[in-house]
Amino acid sequence: MNLLTKLFGSYSKKELKRIEPLKQAVLALDDKYTKMTDEELKGQTAVLKERLSLGSSLDDILPEAFATCREAMWRVLSIKPFPVQIIGGIILHQGRIAEMKTGEGKTFTAALPAYLNALSGKGVHIVTVNDYLAKYQGEMMARVFNYLGLTVGLAIPGMEPDEKKKAYACDITYATNNEIGFDYLRDNMVTYKERKVQRGHNFAIVDEVDSILIDEARTPLIISGQGEQSTELYNVADRFAKTLRPIRVAETNEKEDNDEIYEDYDYIINEKQKTATLTKRGVKKAEQFFSLENLTDPDNITIQHHINQAIKANGIMQRDIDYVVRDGEVIIVDEFTGRLMYGRRYNEGLHQAIEAKEGVKIARESKTLATITFQNFFRLYNKLSGMTGTAMTEESEFSEIYKLDVVEIPTNKPMIREDCPDVVYKTEKGKFNAVINDIIEHHEKGQPVLVGTITIEKSEQLSAMLKRRGIKHEVLNAKYHEKEAEIVAQAGRKGAVTIATNMAGRGTDILLGGNAEFMARAEMRRMQFSEELIGEASAYGYTDDEEILNARKTFAELNKKYKAEIAPEAEEVRKLGGLYIIGTERHESRRIDNQLRGRAGRQGDPGKSRFYISLEDDLMRLFGGDRIQTIMDRLNVDEDMPIEASILSNTIENAQKKVEGRNFAIRKNVLQYDDVMNRQREIIYEQRDRVLNGDNVKPQIMSMIDQAIEANVKRFLPENTLHDDWDLRGLRDHYLGWMVNPDELHYEGQAFEDLEQQTVIDFLKERAHKLYDLREKAFTPPIMREVERVVLLKNVDTQWMDHIDAMDELQKGIRLRAYGQQDPVIAYREEGFDMFDAMIDTIRENTARMILTVRLKTPEAPKREAVAKETGTTSSDTPAVKQPVRNNGKKPGRNDPCPCGSGKKYKKCCGRNES
Ligand code: ADP
Repeated sequence: MNLLTKLFGSYSKKELKRIEPLKQAVLALDDKYTKMTDEELKGQTAVLKERLSLGSSLDDILPEAFATCREAMWRVLSIKPFPVQIIGGIILHQGRIAEMKTGEGKTFTAALPAYLNALSGKGVHIVTVNDYLAKYQGEMMARVFNYLGLTVGLAIPGMEPDEKKKAYACDITYATNNEIGFDYLRDNMVTYKERKVQRGHNFAIVDEVDSILIDEARTPLIISGQGEQSTELYNVADRFAKTLRPIRVAETNEKEDNDEIYEDYDYIINEKQKTATLTKRGVKKAEQFFSLENLTDPDNITIQHHINQAIKANGIMQRDIDYVVRDGEVIIVDEFTGRLMYGRRYNEGLHQAIEAKEGVKIARESKTLATITFQNFFRLYNKLSGMTGTAMTEESEFSEIYKLDVVEIPTNKPMIREDCPDVVYKTEKGKFNAVINDIIEHHEKGQPVLVGTITIEKSEQLSAMLKRRGIKHEVLNAKYHEKEAEIVAQAGRKGAVTIATNMAGRGTDILLGGNAEFMARAEMRRMQFSEELIGEASAYGYTDDEEILNARKTFAELNKKYKAEIAPEAEEVRKLGGLYIIGTERHESRRIDNQLRGRAGRQGDPGKSRFYISLEDDLMRLFGGDRIQTIMDRLNVDEDMPIEASILSNTIENAQKKVEGRNFAIRKNVLQYDDVMNRQREIIYEQRDRVLNGDNVKPQIMSMIDQAIEANVKRFLPENTLHDDWDLRGLRDHYLGWMVNPDELHYEGQAFEDLEQQTVIDFLKERAHKLYDLREKAFTPPIMREVERVVLLKNVDTQWMDHIDAMDELQKGIRLRAYGQQDPVIAYREEGFDMFDAMIDTIRENTARMILTVRLKTPEAPKREAVAKETGTTSSDTPAVKQPVRNNGKKPGRNDPCPCGSGKKYKKCCGRNES
């Protein structure tokens, strides 16, 4: 204990003192609630809800709610939370981290604040690390919560969205961290509000909070999907492009507006605008090459797009100027600085087209569709809390990243485990020999030994050594939760030797003498009960199924039988000193070491722990510094000679602190990058929600149309430049066919000289608004509103997914760049926001175009569903939303293509009912 702590008492002690009266208030109510009838007790839920509705706060009703829940747990599960569990529960309710040692009963602790907070009706999420724990705890506690009139749901992988939605609608939902995060991401990809499964993020209690918020925080959750459906089309389009004859022009302007000039060429390269456009001849060739009737038909939009990118890649993009090829990769050259922009990719398939051109591998079949870090996901909650046996060492990270403080909760019974000082060996071989001898020595006495290793490889190595010495043992590593739990549960039996990686079976209680429940289940397996029934037998879900009730009876009897059998063995093991934990290496993080130790000495049990270290361990080699080696050399120790490490323990701890600091920095770094994305994600998700919620987006659409027009006019007719430099033809081409006719936007002589940018803007805006009004009238306003939502959603999704992917690449590449003094995170933020702005421009442009051109295939409202399927592909066409086929207002002939754009003949489509 350092001097400061001695003088002022620790932070936790002070905090505990502060909530002591609250704890007393809960305990004081015990008598009153014990005396209640079942009906009265159940009625408390309504009573408390009523108080909330009359203006009481959750804090006000805490004592009564906790007391109600405690008494209900007693009546349903024959368990009454201990005073320390009440303290833990209060800490959780306050949105903090309760550090409670293994075996202190965190499941029951969490129940108290869960009940209290669920009374608000806004939902409580209890988050655990694996499905098995979520299911087990959820079912057990559901009995208590159901008794009190609350609903409980379970959200784990493999459930149908409908079931999930029900689970999240419950008062309390048990879920795994991955699933709950993925559900959030998936919810932001749905096309209808009703498809969302979650209903907000009110209060989360995170079990094993260090594991979820720290260990897993380095890798974000990612939903990836099939990217470009076929990269092959890029190759084909490239082959085609290479057969074409281009003509280079400085610019296309009025004087060159003559198709005849281009008669002998297939595409026009406009060097100034950096565009490449097929000529009539080129279009014809394409139709031949791809066996198409009409390249410009909306159904061929994908091919069109690939051809456009291929001619751009071949005609405009120049190797060693715009990009370089290095190690089979196409890398963009920054046009201003000449720097290689590792990881950046041209969008909209241009990068792939260049890859096809250069004959390198066309990158990425799958692409990131949605992603979030756990840090940012859990920060969504209005209130977040957590519990774990080991949080103190990461106190500063919890407070800095999550604004969570850690309070150490005292154990229910005094802790009597003996933690021996480390022993250090010069070589790993010497260390392992000593470990084996130590295991055997304790094993021969009958004391159970649990050996923790850092890697699977090391656990197998140890296992082989034990086998050679003829010692029976179990090996497990973190792969199969359920089986793991079975094995770890018996690690406290007399004479048991269990080798486990540190995380294996975490969350399972190791009981001295053995775990009766697990033995009962094994017995039922021998009795030929099905796995499903065994699962149900020890579960708590309500049922009137005879078979299950029978299985539960058998389970209860066997459990009782084994408990009785175990009692003397437990006593014996206790006398032998309880569970002995051997750590075979110090982990990078002290917290993980503490977890391993924490498996012994639960609930006042005896126990012992010791770590073995060698100078060849990674931690010592990389971070130990030379000090230890010098000491060892000076002492002239040989391989098998241990040094009790009191002199070295500071060095070891410092090495761990060094690594912990480094890992924290890495996690912070991941977060800094995700924070950039987070801001963008918020904007996009909010936009999506508005669409999903059915808000009227017309004003937004109108403003997008106007802004797109302004941007385009400014691009083609730049301000403060000579009229000669204007590209009026380019502008006309851009709008030709859907906004302007071939004879419009022509200005000659003086008229051209006098032309003002604003005139063109006004003209186009007026045209767009007129077109819009016509469409709205034709579709009817309600359908137009839905069309707007569909189009906006589709465009936002498509562009956003491309953007995420591009950001991903940017992040990967940015660290490789030579930045000199510039902080890569800042560069990422700046470039990321530039890319975001560019994406918004594209959304605007595409939305405007689509709104003014879509055709409805059927008279019904368009289905977003069909649109959603299309997102993530390059096609801007969808089954329900089609580009127009113009027929100049004439009624089509029966064998003509249907004007609705379905691609079918008129008589087989909209003209079906005409005679
Ligand atoms: P943790 O998750 O904190 O390691 P568990 O929730 O697995 O602990 O509980 C450990 C053991 O202690 C379980 O067998 C549980 O039944 C028991 N236990 C916890 N709290 C109580 C209590 N208040 N009364 C009786 N037994 C309890």
